[in-house]
Amino acid sequence: MQETTLTPSRSGFWSDLALWKKILVGMILGVLVGAVMGPDAEMLKPIGTLFINAIKMLIVPLVFCSLVVGVTSMQDTRKMGRIGLKSVVLYLGTTAVAITIGLGLATILTPGAGLNMSPAETAAVAKEAPTLVQTLLNMIPKNPINALAAGNILQIIVFALGLGIALTLCGEKAEPAIKVFESLAEGMYKLTELVMKLAPYGVFGLMAWVAGKYGLEILLPLAKVIAAAYIGCLIHVVVFYSGLISTVGRLSPVRYLKGLVNPAAVAFTTTSSSGTLPATIKAAREEMGVSKGISSFVLPLGATINMDGTALYQGVCALFIAQAFGIDLSMADYLLIIMTSTLASIGTAGVPGAGLIMLSLVLTTVGLPLEGLAIVAGIDRILDMARTSVNVCGDLMVSVLVGKSENELDEDIYNGIEPAPAKELA
Ligand code: ASP
Repeated sequence: MQETTLTPSRSGFWSDLALWKKILVGMILGVLVGAVMGPDAEMLKPIGTLFINAIKMLIVPLVFCSLVVGVTSMQDTRKMGRIGLKSVVLYLGTTAVAITIGLGLATILTPGAGLNMSPAETAAVAKEAPTLVQTLLNMIPKNPINALAAGNILQIIVFALGLGIALTLCGEKAEPAIKVFESLAEGMYKLTELVMKLAPYGVFGLMAWVAGKYGLEILLPLAKVIAAAYIGCLIHVVVFYSGLISTVGRLSPVRYLKGLVNPAAVAFTTTSSSGTLPATIKAAREEMGVSKGISSFVLPLGATINMDGTALYQGVCALFIAQAFGIDLSMADYLLIIMTSTLASIGTAGVPGAGLIMLSLVLTTVGLPLEGLAIVAGIDRILDMARTSVNVCGDLMVSVLVGKSENELDEDIYNGIEPAPAKELA
């Protein structure tokens, strides 16, 4: 009751504005100010550096805690054995395909070519490419504490997955530890939210610097990034998912595409696959005839660990940034991007903008400059709309395939022969 006197309401145009709009404003203002100031705009860069340092601060604890929690929350997977395994294999397999499509499109469209940007802080990015065998061997941390301290993301991911599995296997005895990780992960999500409040200012500073230094030519490549991401998302859903539905599921791809319209529209506007979950479950049951049992297990799992759109976007952005900074990536780097994005998708929360933070993880792993992050941050909402829709379409596709393979898919409902309410879905 007293709260109003203690915390005076802070309403105003700026504070009421949604974060993504603020970031967009920051970006536009940054470009304008940079274009006017020219190279002098470099004086604004520290604001951006502050934001980038704050993001760097998040990466290690965020990835570690959220991955451990991501794995331990899959407890049900063990109980549901076969179904869990099928879903996880499909989720991770399709994610790897998604990122490959992203990498392929960015290679063809080369959105970052000719930008000739130079990384300011991360001068040591051009590292020697390790061989594939070395990369695989190096994934296992000999000393996990060293891996955490050095920020070796791949090793941290492997250790977090191992610890998560071990804690799950311990059962009751590990419950306190799991609770600690859950609560730390919550704390890290909150800290991420707080750091993201700096994004509009950070993006402003970095865009002013970039536009001042490189001129307005920076805008065309960003349009190309959006085009690459959207084309990739369309291919992934219309060609790849539909293809799986018809070849593996022997079902009509047209019915699948028709059924996903509603949840995809919700995902497109909310940019949160977790927030879209009710609409996804409804569509799976009522439009596609997936049983209650399968949909209520496979879809929440998917909203947590399946991020095909996010992975595809990471492929496009990582290559864009490499091209913009003139960094040649080796085959091992490509594989590293595919592996990191696929594994990182397990720990990506289905909330707006989460993929941007995860992009910083991929960039760090491959040794690409984090300044690139600020450039794509300005258009993140536009990219988030497409990638979240794909994330949700992927969840639906897997629920249909798993339902079909378990004989828990009502094909009359799927084919629109019988409306859902008339059927009692077990
Ligand atoms: N917004 C996405 C989702 O909820 C995650 C991301 O930012 O990529 O699925």
